[in-house]
Amino acid sequence: MNRFYYKGTNEKLIRCLAIAERILNGALFYSKIESVESFSGTSVSSSKIASDLKSFRETVTVEGYWNIFGLANAKTGSSELIKINTAKLRRSEGSIVNTIIHEYVHAVDYKDGILDYTHSDNINRGEENKTAPWLIGKIAEDMM
Ligand SMILES: [Zn+2]
Repeated sequence: MNRFYYKGTNEKLIRCLAIAERILNGALFYSKIESVESFSGTSVSSSKIASDLKSFRETVTVEGYWNIFGLANAKTGSSELIKINTAKLRRSEGSIVNTIIHEYVHAVDYKDGILDYTHSDNINRGEENKTAPWLIGKIAEDMM
């Protein structure tokens, strides 16, 4: 199934979306999520989060935006659209895939309009490493 729809032309982003897609369509990713004992900042279980991600059937549109001065690598405000800051793609493919999966967790979490497993702000100084978006992004990066 197609998890992402991107009509832009950024080749690095296209490659990273394909990698993210492959990870999301394999079984290993979900067993890794299920094996996390608990995520910070939420009472939702690891198996519920894995199942939400696995069973999500909407194709999420991905758009690039350009903000050289912004701190964020991306922003996601709905379950239909992920915006990736294309001014911040001069980093490893693993790091970009991490961002894509992180945003995908938000998109899936947004499907009922309420965020049930998220983090507190856009700057992770280490304290948010065990929240679902950050840790699941890292799981994907580590699978590359
Ligand atoms: Zn986030």
